[in-house]
Amino acid sequence: MAKLAIREERCKSCGICIEFCPENCLEIGDKLNAQGYRCVRLADPDACRACGICGRMCPDVVIEVWK
Ligand code: SF4
Ligand code: SF4
Repeated sequence: MAKLAIREERCKSCGICIEFCPENCLEIGDKLNAQGYRCVRLADPDACRACGICGRMCPDVVIEVWK
């Protein structure tokens, strides 16, 4: 199963990763970080195939993906 490390404190809630995820498994969660942004979260871990696109597209280097 894929593992995502989400550096929540860096997330700016822009939604780019969500737009580019081919499996639609990311979403903006309810949790606020210290900057006041709602952090992205992996909503459907079973659907994630560890393609790494989210990590490559995030302009703030929030997401790291392992297979
Ligand atoms: S690794 Fe791929 S499938 Fe998994 S959340 Fe990121 S973009 Fe979506
Ligand atoms: S993880 Fe990156 S691309 Fe996704 S919402 Fe947060 S800042 Fe934007």
